[in-house]
Amino acid sequence: MSTSTLAPAPQAAPEPTAVRVQERPRRTLATPRHWAELDAAEKTAAVAQAGLPAFRLRQIDAHYYRRFEGEPDQWTDLSPADRETVATLFPPLITPVTQRTADRGTTVKSLYRLSDGVLVETVLMRYGLRRDLTPGPRGVRSTLCVSSQAGCGMACPFCATGQGGLDRNLTAGEIIEQVRSAAGDLARGELPGGPGHLSNIVFMGMGEPLANYRALLQAVRAITTPQPEGFGISARSLTISTVGLVPRIATLATEGLPITLAVSLHAPDDDLRDELCPINRRWNVSELLNAAHAYYETTGRRVSIEYALIRDINDQAFRAGLLADRLLERGKGWAHVNLIPLNPTPGSKWTASRPGVQEEFVARLERRGLPVTVRDTRGSDIDGACGQLAARVRDGVTAANANNGPNAQIDQRGQVEHEEAVV
Ligand code: SF4
Repeated sequence: MSTSTLAPAPQAAPEPTAVRVQERPRRTLATPRHWAELDAAEKTAAVAQAGLPAFRLRQIDAHYYRRFEGEPDQWTDLSPADRETVATLFPPLITPVTQRTADRGTTVKSLYRLSDGVLVETVLMRYGLRRDLTPGPRGVRSTLCVSSQAGCGMACPFCATGQGGLDRNLTAGEIIEQVRSAAGDLARGELPGGPGHLSNIVFMGMGEPLANYRALLQAVRAITTPQPEGFGISARSLTISTVGLVPRIATLATEGLPITLAVSLHAPDDDLRDELCPINRRWNVSELLNAAHAYYETTGRRVSIEYALIRDINDQAFRAGLLADRLLERGKGWAHVNLIPLNPTPGSKWTASRPGVQEEFVARLERRGLPVTVRDTRGSDIDGACGQLAARVRDGVTAANANNGPNAQIDQRGQVEHEEAVV
């Protein structure tokens, strides 16, 4: 039979026109190992190797994890010679560049430059203060939002960070240092409401945390280990967000850590989610929600479903109904919906929903019995959305970074290579 009589071969599916997920960081970084990255045995070895008496180990831990002091040259209970020696175990990993405050000083966005010149952000938010900034009746809480990557490879088109792609993974030390820095600011009473401590940490800053899994988990261990070997913050006070790396959600569930999982869903249907979150083309809505539900079943922790309400894109009433269907078909009580009024990126077509539309979306979910909250839009006047402050400062400091090019490698003792593919 001539091939000309055969039905035409099926055409390859047209390439999607939307942006693609970036699989690997553009580069890796070899950083000198920092005290915060050492386990107990490594700390003992490091102290011995440095010729320090063994009791210094506990002293160093107390400075770092209890008093949040990261610069040994200020530790006056050490001899000048020992300070110098200990300083070699504390290479400077993050340097404050600028801070912006909003909400009468109770929201502080900090920008840090890392040792190779890349910029990352944290946001520290204080809750529970009265209008006169004195502590309210239910106590004061402080939440820190940390970054896990420089940039992000997930390419969500509505997100400032996603537009620049993934520069590199942060090291565990760089993540831990963000926490120490904020905890120190609070302990010194630099925010309204008086001295305090970190109540919650959310991995919702720049980057996809689960794409930098090893460093993330190492940081989580340092954060949750009791003082003085760690910061002593309960795993129940941590939230890790993901845009949908399904295999890593399954792995996280096996770690034995009661961390809250936040799933950035943003659309209940694959057609739209393929566009809003390109990773959806690899793991679709059903696979993602199945993984999230399994996480709940394994850990007992209710999952937070994050949904950025974007005007005329995903805020239609029928999508509220579809979202409710997709959650309730897996049972009741396992998920909580957190709606996020979009914090628009300057010059972007993506913007927040109209108030009436947002109210209708909330009402439809509530009528179906789903717990719903609408996130308060703190810091929207300080380039509040993830990546905006870094983008703004990066554009203004390119010259300042000229000697710290993107391929800068730090060539010192005890380097660690950091690279991880998406999965
Ligand atoms: S929304 Fe989150 S996952 Fe998506 S590009 Fe931005 S930082 Fe990455």
